[in-house]
Amino acid sequence: MFESLSKRLEGIFSGLSGKGKLTEADVNEAMREVRLALLEADVNLRVVRQFVERVRAKAIGAEVLGSFSPAQQVLQIVHEELIDMLGGEGSQNRLDLGGPPPNVIMLVGLQGSGKTTTAAKLANYLRKEGQRPLLVAADMYRPAAVRQLQTLGKQLSIPVYAEPMGANPVDICVHAVDYAREQAASVVILDTAGRLNIDEQMMQEVIAIRKRVQPREVLLVADAMTGQEAVRVASDFNQAVALTGMILTKMDGDARGGAALSIRAVTGVPVKFLGVGEKTDALEPFYPDRLASRILGMGDVLTLIERAQEAIDQQEALQTQARLQQGQFDLEDFLKAMRQLKRMGPLRSILEMLPGFNKLAALPEMDEALEGDPLKHIEAIILSMTPEERRNPDIINGSRRRRIARGSGTSVQEINQLLTQFNETRAMLRQLASGKGPWARLLRQYAS
Ligand code: GDP
Repeated sequence: MFESLSKRLEGIFSGLSGKGKLTEADVNEAMREVRLALLEADVNLRVVRQFVERVRAKAIGAEVLGSFSPAQQVLQIVHEELIDMLGGEGSQNRLDLGGPPPNVIMLVGLQGSGKTTTAAKLANYLRKEGQRPLLVAADMYRPAAVRQLQTLGKQLSIPVYAEPMGANPVDICVHAVDYAREQAASVVILDTAGRLNIDEQMMQEVIAIRKRVQPREVLLVADAMTGQEAVRVASDFNQAVALTGMILTKMDGDARGGAALSIRAVTGVPVKFLGVGEKTDALEPFYPDRLASRILGMGDVLTLIERAQEAIDQQEALQTQARLQQGQFDLEDFLKAMRQLKRMGPLRSILEMLPGFNKLAALPEMDEALEGDPLKHIEAIILSMTPEERRNPDIINGSRRRRIARGSGTSVQEINQLLTQFNETRAMLRQLASGKGPWARLLRQYAS
């Protein structure tokens, strides 16, 4: 997400930090480059102009010039303005489900935007938050949509309300809300009809449903890959039905993500979620401050921690912790940790959240390293060891290494690499457990 934009911006700011004292000309030159970078990422022209002007005025007004660490201060101003452009730090990016249950969320959008998939993702997300969702198949124009939603519902064990083809979509929604009440569902998600283009009939239908069921949220699902087209669609929908929020899908692609940056500033409608993949768990709540940090290469440690909390089995984590405190950490533990890491999602998406990753991502070795499934190798190697070797890796001598390499279809060099990695991890974890050493210091820095 935003890899190329991030890389460009980081380049600009590291150029500034090499300068020591900044002149007005330095700031102007940097802002000219920022402007180009944003335009190339497909951020809306008017939004870019406003953004650049505000940063420039602040940077020059804030006596950044000639002061201590000026580049840092310019970066700080850009960060603040970026957060502002993305919708600020207020709560308008959260869903409002504060009404008497069932609260209705209505999804609208064009065909192919990812509406049906997003309905399922949202239901899955809300269930994790403790809600009892009901999905409603109200898209009667795309014949496969009803079946698609039913399949997704089945996969997730989330109930789906549907009626036979030809039923009136407004009636379906009204019946579905009654059904939700009977079933004590706490939230109803309506997957309404999409068309290839905005047309009058679709808008009338959306307006009629909105009037009858009085949804708490009317969310536009928009395909971020369509760039400025998504911004236009959002403006049109907002004028016709007054949206309460947006979900931008396909943010996992890098192309033209800039639309996502300007859609809020152009329409005034807050982005509430991002779709980041095809799977039903690929939905992230939208936090302007976190996204701004990610774009500026400052990392997003908060989202990383949340993902870790979801992926990690607490019981298992406590056991590992207890073992560590006794100074024990073997290859079985290492394997478990690798599997947990895998549950957190694709490695690249995890690394992207770490500060400074964008510089690393620019290296061709990185693409190669992340190609395929890098953790699978590690798994294969450890599984080719005997239980004794796993518990006591220090006994793995040359002939054992050769045997393991043969068994796992890898090379002795790879076994060596893995054992070095394991030894480093063990040393780091021992430091963390004892609270002493550079890794423990780093952890304290992050925690503060
Ligand atoms: P609908 O016509 O709006 O209901 O669209 P669908 O839900 O059928 O989605 C259209 C296509 O986009 C499907 O192939 C989805 O798997 C895909 N899709 C939806 N959301 C995302 C996303 O966040 N990332 C990616 N990569 N694909 C997505």
